[in-house]
Amino acid sequence: MKFTLTQALALIGASALSGSAEPAKRPAPGARPYGLVIHGGAGVIVRKEMTAQTEAAYRDKLAQARDAGYAVLERGGSATDAVVAAVRVMEDSPLFNAGYGAVLDSDGVCELDAAIMDGRTLGAGAVAGVQTVKNPILLAKAIMERSPHVMLAGPGAERFAKEAGLEIVPNSYFRTERRMRELERARQQERQAPGVGQAADGTPPGEDRKWGTVGCVALDRDGNLAAGTSTGGMTNKKFGRVGDSPIIGAGTYANNATCAVSCTGHGEFFMRGVVGHDISARMEYGALPLAEAAARTLAKLGDAGGTGGLVAIGRDGAVAMPFNTPGMYRALRISTGESLVRLFGDER
Ligand code: ASP
Repeated sequence: MKFTLTQALALIGASALSGSAEPAKRPAPGARPYGLVIHGGAGVIVRKEMTAQTEAAYRDKLAQARDAGYAVLERGGSATDAVVAAVRVMEDSPLFNAGYGAVLDSDGVCELDAAIMDGRTLGAGAVAGVQTVKNPILLAKAIMERSPHVMLAGPGAERFAKEAGLEIVPNSYFRTERRMRELERARQQERQAPGVGQAADGTPPGEDRKWGTVGCVALDRDGNLAAGTSTGGMTNKKFGRVGDSPIIGAGTYANNATCAVSCTGHGEFFMRGVVGHDISARMEYGALPLAEAAARTLAKLGDAGGTGGLVAIGRDGAVAMPFNTPGMYRALRISTGESLVRLFGDER
């Protein structure tokens, strides 16, 4: 289906809130909306595998992260600062695969990736494979603001973090019992099925099929967009492996002309699909509304065998939260009154 620019804009205006399982709502007439959407990872997130206590813990932490970011926007702060505020709360929580509580690689080490992008300037900062930086999203922001580069990796990135005065912790800070058990399970599965490449859904052997990466997209009062993503990658990943999250245009992308996107899922597919930029390009070159652009890109990813999801926000406050997994931890708050926290795929 093709749209003229006018038709597309009309469609976007009619769909301020649209995701895989969310109803559409319209912003108050004349109001210039601001707000944000966050995710805490997609995957096999289903009621029957979750206690009421765990479910409540996820809902509370998602609401806390969302509200931390929203408070920044409410007092007139920038979209990039809101993204950092929201992502930081999730990095500091053991519930998610980012910062404290990140998954372990095949050596039993946490190697963290993160990125942030400012849709106003198209400035970006990204970090890959750091082992001692407490909040990788802060390092990504420091790289964006205080270096002439976009991405720093490994020991050089850690040196930059120290020089920038960021908090440094031993790698053991990130490691939790839960993640150690997951790695042990993954190793056992690998031993039992050596040579098996991937499950039918693209899941690598040993992966427990939850992608707990965290991310946030925001639109501030000045109409600027930003996106940020932070992750420990995938359980039992090969030492040195870098996923889509810190790759600008793949797992993270923001452009004031179109939208801001943060992804979660099987990174190898998101990198090859250049998912964040693909959604933006459909809007810029094809004049598609955000929800349709995001749905088409995710469908293409699914056709290629990729699983996961994303959150996106447009310059007019339209949002999309599509995923092709049973669930995705997600939450949003928009100045026009919409506010929600959702975990499962069947939640309205
Ligand atoms: N996309 C991340 C990666 O592949 C994983 C995730 O979303 O949980 O590194």
